[in-house]
Amino acid sequence: MSSPPRKRVSGVKLWIGLAVTPVVVVATFLLVLPLIPSWRNAEASALMAASPAPIDGARAYGYLKQLCDLGPRPAGTEVNNRQRQLVSDHFVKYGATVKEQPFRTRHPLTGKRVDMANLVGSWHPEKLQRVVLSAHYDTRPEPDEEVDPVRHKMPFLGANDGASGVALLMELAHHLNDLKCPWGVDLVLFDGEELVYGNNPRQGEYFLGSKEFARRYADQLERGRPRFRYVAGFVLDMVGGTNLALAQEPNSLKLAPDLVREVWGVARQLGAKSFRFTEGREVLDDHLPLNNVGIPTIDIIDFDYPYWHKADDLPENCSAQSLAEVGRVLSAWLTLPRKTKSKR
Ligand SMILES: [Zn+2]
Repeated sequence: MSSPPRKRVSGVKLWIGLAVTPVVVVATFLLVLPLIPSWRNAEASALMAASPAPIDGARAYGYLKQLCDLGPRPAGTEVNNRQRQLVSDHFVKYGATVKEQPFRTRHPLTGKRVDMANLVGSWHPEKLQRVVLSAHYDTRPEPDEEVDPVRHKMPFLGANDGASGVALLMELAHHLNDLKCPWGVDLVLFDGEELVYGNNPRQGEYFLGSKEFARRYADQLERGRPRFRYVAGFVLDMVGGTNLALAQEPNSLKLAPDLVREVWGVARQLGAKSFRFTEGREVLDDHLPLNNVGIPTIDIIDFDYPYWHKADDLPENCSAQSLAEVGRVLSAWLTLPRKTKSKR
């Protein structure tokens, strides 16, 4: 699921000799001005305008524990269905219109039919420009990063890899009716992100839910529906670990660079220290299918979480503070004033 990091792209550098005249200085500045990355403007506006919602980290962490209390939640299981119903009721309670996107696959080991469904909770469904905030809600069937065969057989609860993103979406749901946001917001739970066994060899296919979501969106665009467009997308994956460290993910930087820089600009303004200004490891994740259908989408992920795909991916290795920090940044980004409607 990863490959070595790439080299950072260096910023625009401007060197001016001491002997040049003021006219040359001004002319050079005017020439270079358009080359200065747009995120600096975004960061400047963030400096004035970032205003986070009153995210309740303890409540978000409570949701994380509640989801883990259900037990392991792999795609196609009864517990996974119960989780979807729980979140669906929650979204409706806080003002969403909820839809499901059913789809199916074959189980990678048994070949039996597996029924799955994405969940889409829409706030302000009448708005034609929309943002999608997403997380996968299925958990890995086994903790297959455990080399010890006994630990490999232990249940995998996915407190961070699964529950953290869903819990944060549940917390955000409390705030979306009141948020001063120019767009409609869809909170989306992807099923079948990792109905996968082992890594080498690997059995199963990643990202079934986000592929289904992207396929439906592209299909509808082709047929002239929906009338709305997604202007930006976020994947939240492992955002609740203690000592959270969110480096900028290379595929996100490549596919949706303005979005990365805006969000990290907001984080800097808010003093959200878990957002790191370094390039992290490249991750293949649910953001790729969305980018493939024209939704600029970034992956907010701590891929160095030490309990990734291990039996100790448990609530005690997650923190309310981490969830709150990511929630504050996202809610503030949603409220940034926009100069032009068409830009985003
Ligand atoms: Zn995983």
